[in-house]
Amino acid sequence: MTVEANKQTLGFQTEVKHLLHLMIHSLYSNKEIFLRELISNASDAADKLRFEALANDSLYAGDSELKIRVDFDETQKTITISDNGIGMTRAEVQDHIGTIAKSGTKQFFERLTGDQAKDSELIGQFGVGFYSAFIVADKVTLTTRKAGETEAVRWESAGEGDYTIESVDKPGRGTEIVLHMKDGEEEFLNSWRLRTIIKKFSDHISLPIIMSKEVPAEKDDEGNETSPASLEDETVNSASALWTQSKDSISAEEYNEFYKHVAHDFQDPLTHAHSRVEGTNEYSLLLYVPSRAPFDMWDRDAKHGVKLYIKKIFITDDAEQLMPRFLRFVRGVIDADSLPLNVSREILQQSKQISAIKTGAVKKVLGMLEDLAENDAEKYQTFWEQFGNVIKEGPIEDHKNKDRVAKLLRFASTHTDDKTQSVSLDDYISRMKEGQEKIYYVTADSFAAAKNSPHLEIFRKKGIEVLLLSDRIDEWLVSSLTDYDDKHLQSIAKGDLDLDKFDSEEEKQHQEEVSKDFEAVLKQIQDVLTDKVSEVRVSHRLTDSPACLVTGVYDMSLNMERIMKEAGQSLNMMGMGGSKPIFEINPDHAIVKALKNEQDDARFADISQILFDQAILSEGGQLDNPSAFVHKLNGLLQSLLV
Ligand code: ADP
Repeated sequence: MTVEANKQTLGFQTEVKHLLHLMIHSLYSNKEIFLRELISNASDAADKLRFEALANDSLYAGDSELKIRVDFDETQKTITISDNGIGMTRAEVQDHIGTIAKSGTKQFFERLTGDQAKDSELIGQFGVGFYSAFIVADKVTLTTRKAGETEAVRWESAGEGDYTIESVDKPGRGTEIVLHMKDGEEEFLNSWRLRTIIKKFSDHISLPIIMSKEVPAEKDDEGNETSPASLEDETVNSASALWTQSKDSISAEEYNEFYKHVAHDFQDPLTHAHSRVEGTNEYSLLLYVPSRAPFDMWDRDAKHGVKLYIKKIFITDDAEQLMPRFLRFVRGVIDADSLPLNVSREILQQSKQISAIKTGAVKKVLGMLEDLAENDAEKYQTFWEQFGNVIKEGPIEDHKNKDRVAKLLRFASTHTDDKTQSVSLDDYISRMKEGQEKIYYVTADSFAAAKNSPHLEIFRKKGIEVLLLSDRIDEWLVSSLTDYDDKHLQSIAKGDLDLDKFDSEEEKQHQEEVSKDFEAVLKQIQDVLTDKVSEVRVSHRLTDSPACLVTGVYDMSLNMERIMKEAGQSLNMMGMGGSKPIFEINPDHAIVKALKNEQDDARFADISQILFDQAILSEGGQLDNPSAFVHKLNGLLQSLLV
């Protein structure tokens, strides 16, 4: 096959076209990031080669000094970034450069609004990578040869609908990317400008970045040239792994830039932790909390963000063993000194050292979050808004650190009555009433439903704070986190509330009288609702609403039942649910009082049924038969109005 015959023209995946268009239009004020992205890729490619070469030294083919070169040509208007890293095969070029393989990409693009300001925020979440070349270039030529292979390929595109790919010759392994700069981007064809960008963005990466430097001609005293002008290679960056340096020698900006490199993000992180552990199991860690959740945080298959190095050699970024799932937003580097370099996945999975490092790393991250909570409330709030729902998996996943994680949790509460989740369990406890032993909460499927739950009425009246839980994960959270600081977490919609201790003697007496007074009515309602409720009783929970539903202490909450039903789980098959709720009526409510005196049995039944359906609705639930409800209600209205 001739080289020509090898040339193929292929179309970009639709998503790539969108991404390119969006990127070019939303990142123009941030153009220079193209260099960081391409250098990061080159550095990753070097990392991968080093790792592969651990098992197969011949991949180096005599060239083991890994480096990146940046050159430019003013007359050709090109910038060239080349590396002698792992390189790519033809198939890899096609898979990685013509397509976006990340799962969740489609959903990501569905979220774009067309509003450029908003979309450029989103694109930051997505990460731009290689395609950022097209911010400054109107044609990109990538030539690459995989380590250990002889065939090289060239990929070329103007960043519009398609690209070409063909076999070519390339003397050494690695990847060379030539950017044909757009008109108007000449500012980058300048040695000083490029050096400044490299220093700013890539100073801290461990690989040397080389640029040519002009050495002027040397002349003797008479002005005769003794040696002609020449070019000399110069390492532009400091080329030492940032995490190996001492904390005080690193500036805040260097930490931030390094974060952007490891995390492929372009916003500054919220906070970081950097430390070195000495002893038999020695390791360094440099971990970051991003200021924004990545687009694929809820994707179960998304890669974890902590990179494992051993003695400064990159091993894997798929190190699930290093961070638990509830800290999956953490980014950064862990470098273990005492592990052998020839580790396999299996060894990693079973390594006691790795699991000790994980324990240490989790402690570090929790410490970093505790610091943030204590010292920078505003940043902590940002953190909570982005990652709160992930952290809530903590008490479920990590029993050992349950209390520490619980301290980090924030909730909405009746104290503020605001949607913002800002109340900690400690805040709650500090406001508990004298004699109050439990931490009260209500769950619902929206904040509005939680805040307006009829169950809250008595708590509001007595001035007892209640946490308002309306995230899906909350039901699971409270089923794991049953106690905090020796205080039981109690759903206000379950079982009996022992609030009578806060009642006055008068109130107690009133309740007793009422209970007796209502015995017959309760029985009558029970007969009407017999297949729907397990019991009908006089409520101590309500002040304004006529009725509410309560579940048994050990029963699933009604909200949880709804969630399970929506998820298509059959409750009976799971041996759960199916237990009927308790129906509580408010004896002081005008409707209930009137019901007590209702003589017409049919009307009595209709009103009881309506009260029951209302109780479901007011908790945000759904009726099995809404039209029957409407029909009954209209019947009543008609009898009033006509
Ligand atoms: P990301 O780096 O986020 O995966 P990119 O679009 O920047 O996304 O790159 C896509 C893939 O292309 C990389 O994951 C890598 O496999 C490959 N790639 C990019 N640049 C290089 C390079 N210089 N050498 C080898 N492979 C590369």
